[in-house]
Amino acid sequence: MQRFEILDKDAMGRIGRLETPHGRIETPALMPVINPNIEFIPAKDMRKFGAEILITNAYIIYRTPELREKAIKKGVHGVLEVDMPVMTDSGSYQLMVYGDVEISNEEILKFQIDIGSDIIVPLDVPTPPDADYGTALSDLEVTLQREREALKLERGDRLLALPIQGSTHMDLRRRCAEEVVKMGGDVYPIGGIVPLMDTYRFYDLVKIILEVKSVLPSYAPVHLFGAGHPMVFALAVALGCDLFDSAAYALYAKDDRYLTPHGTKKLEELQYFPCSCPICLEYTPGELRRMDNDDKQRLIAEHNLWVSFEEIRRIKQAIKEDNLFELVECRIRSHPNLMFAWRQIREYGWLLEQYDPSMKHSFLYAGVESCYRPAVLRHHERVLNVELPDKDEIIISADEGVLADFYLRPAFGVVPIEMLESYPAGHAEIPPSELLEDEALEIAVQGLKRFLDHHSDRRFVIVASGKWLKFLKDLPENAVIKHDKP
Ligand SMILES: [Zn+2]
Repeated sequence: MQRFEILDKDAMGRIGRLETPHGRIETPALMPVINPNIEFIPAKDMRKFGAEILITNAYIIYRTPELREKAIKKGVHGVLEVDMPVMTDSGSYQLMVYGDVEISNEEILKFQIDIGSDIIVPLDVPTPPDADYGTALSDLEVTLQREREALKLERGDRLLALPIQGSTHMDLRRRCAEEVVKMGGDVYPIGGIVPLMDTYRFYDLVKIILEVKSVLPSYAPVHLFGAGHPMVFALAVALGCDLFDSAAYALYAKDDRYLTPHGTKKLEELQYFPCSCPICLEYTPGELRRMDNDDKQRLIAEHNLWVSFEEIRRIKQAIKEDNLFELVECRIRSHPNLMFAWRQIREYGWLLEQYDPSMKHSFLYAGVESCYRPAVLRHHERVLNVELPDKDEIIISADEGVLADFYLRPAFGVVPIEMLESYPAGHAEIPPSELLEDEALEIAVQGLKRFLDHHSDRRFVIVASGKWLKFLKDLPENAVIKHDKP
């Protein structure tokens, strides 16, 4: 049965619908992590922040006698006192932190089935980043073996998550993705990434997501397991991640850390709250600082949830408006590591091309990364097939005031007159070339050179001035430059 349906798309992101035994949820979805041992923010209060699904730890429930008894009697939903979908984790995280857990894969899977979890997870082995190849490989063999075991169990209508491991070894990540797709799970978590998040190693994070996505089919729902900071949500959704879990809302709050879509603030640094959630409207940072620890932490955690779900809604709206690229290109400016991480999409143009819708309303230039969007790459391809006018000399002008057959535009390069009014080149808001980053002109000139080479039997006159002349060098022999404003 197909459990995941895609309703809307932008970049590699999508708005989707995932069917669970406790009802349907809309993705991208954020699952707050509920620690069944610590009543911090009650699970039943999570709906008000926007949660449609929760995640809790079956291993902790199993290891705590009172909880285990209650869970066997009333199910995990009874333990949390909710009737919404609940995913359970298997203890893999504890395995990573403590190196061992006192339960077998089969036991924890059966326990998750018995307590009525909506999405169950095998006891996969999260290999930390930079593990040596041999370790990552042998961990991966164990993970795959446990995933095969999971498939054999009768699980009713529960969804099975098949995590993808492999540390920072991309061939192992790809291999794992290939294997789990062959097995056929319902959800595909990308695991072992928390240490990358904690150390701002977004470059590796993005690389792993892109490598995994290059193997997974488009209909596979992807869970970025352990990525709970709102500063990465837009980027991760744009790369095709559908589910997130947040332990961060509580963990950060315990350390007086206040989440924003641009990064983390320490409560002690804040004179003002840059947020309009109910908590930030009611209190000042000073008032929070003077509270006792429990109240303070609970209120910061509530803010952290409000701001996280707000970001998810913002991302969904951006998908609806076809401007997820624009949102990501703003978000990546919050941290240089995010910006350099995102720029890797240059090398994965073929992959983005498969996902990104070709028709949109507008193209707002937000920085050089805008030049790496599929819309630009597609234009460069498309323009090669445009028919040329029957003239001895074809005029391509970088100056809009000159009568020409084609125009030269930043990023897009050669634009035929008939495309001047249509998406993308004709609907692009790009600053004047004189003010623009060099790369936007370089990319345009690369496209121009390809165009000239493609028509090596025709002659062209390139009309240009100012900053363009710096890049219009070493053109093929079939083109001459005419200086527009000497
Ligand atoms: Zn707030």
